[in-house]
Amino acid sequence: MIKINENYLKLKAGYLFPEIGRRTRAYQQGHPQARIIRLGIGDVTLPLPAAVIEAFHRAVDEMSDSATFKGYGPEQGYEFLIRAIIDNDYKSRGVDLSLDEIFVSDGSKCDSGNIQEIFSVANTIAVTDPVYPVYVDTNVMAGRTGAGDERGCYEGIVYMACTPENNFMPEPPEQDVDLIYLCYPNNPTGAVAGCEALARWVAYARAHKAILLFDAAYEAFIRDPAIPHSIFEIPGAREVAIELRSFSKTAGFTGTRCAFTVIPKELQAYTAGGKAVEVNPIWHRRHCTKFNGVSYPVQAAAAATYSQAGKKQVRELVDYYMENARIIRTRLSEFGYQVYGGVDAPYIWLQTPDGMGSWEFFDKLLNEAHVIGTPGAGFGPAGEGFFRLSAFGDRDNVEAAMERIGRLV
Ligand SMILES: *Cc1c(COP(=O)(O)O)cnc(C)c1O
Repeated sequence: MIKINENYLKLKAGYLFPEIGRRTRAYQQGHPQARIIRLGIGDVTLPLPAAVIEAFHRAVDEMSDSATFKGYGPEQGYEFLIRAIIDNDYKSRGVDLSLDEIFVSDGSKCDSGNIQEIFSVANTIAVTDPVYPVYVDTNVMAGRTGAGDERGCYEGIVYMACTPENNFMPEPPEQDVDLIYLCYPNNPTGAVAGCEALARWVAYARAHKAILLFDAAYEAFIRDPAIPHSIFEIPGAREVAIELRSFSKTAGFTGTRCAFTVIPKELQAYTAGGKAVEVNPIWHRRHCTKFNGVSYPVQAAAAATYSQAGKKQVRELVDYYMENARIIRTRLSEFGYQVYGGVDAPYIWLQTPDGMGSWEFFDKLLNEAHVIGTPGAGFGPAGEGFFRLSAFGDRDNVEAAMERIGRLV
């Protein structure tokens, strides 16, 4: 008799986005004339930059000629892309990385979900609350938790509340935790982490022999020059951190798929007996066994984001979204909402008015303004009473949505 992995049965049904979709469809069916504006799901809307498209086309043409055709590439990624990443994303910020410390992949969602596989199920994980659900659900699937409760919290996971009082950046816990997921600039709160806060986390990880999983998917949206773009800008981080980056939000690659993970050579984890083991070769082994590389045209397209023209066009994409963020932020403040984020991140995290529940506010916005956002409670219990709006929409839609929200009573 085939047995199922019962850990999957612990997962809470009615995942956030399906529920949003269900409510939206139900409303649209009852009100076919309503023109609904979606500022909910975190997907981008602008097309790929011209320099990327050009490189993408060129690489596809190379695949059509036996002289330039490429079959399997290196599992870790082509050197041309890894070099471009090191020179542009890291060397420019004073971080030195070697070629074999970077693993190119088809997405940070996969990487953030897969990375836990190389660590023992006995580890205690810590996540911020609210949280990107992938970090939690993949640990549930792996059997690293007990059952979930009605608020969507799983036994065995340490949830660290992110609130306006701590600027949505929790202090390291009193207790011992082993694997800590941090995402800054943060999805969903739009908060950023400064050097001092990150240095406290690095110090914690060093003292507790823990590892920080730093998701920097939104680093390109940072405007404040004092905010670090990489965890490796913090002294001592190479021994205790893994960093995830993605071309998805930065360069419009959500449908094209390219990302990478940085695992420094110094990073160590331990056997049950306390013997230190290097993490980089273990991830390399895992990556090469379960993954056969990102397609050549996609890597060529990703590398084009670092060309002179590519950089300029990517900056224009980011600027466009950040102008949306500014509009949402200022308009909502004028309307009297308490808003957070949207300055160094493409998400605006607003406090629901009059202590309204976040799903209740979702329904109000849908019914009365025909605007879709994301209820904070869907990201964790500390998200209750908050609501996420994404700046990835089209400008006209953003402006129309703000006008409609302004007319709400
Ligand atoms: C969008 C997003 C990513 C990127 O995921 P991809 O799989 O690379 O598209 C990673 N982390 C967070 C928190 C995100 O919101």
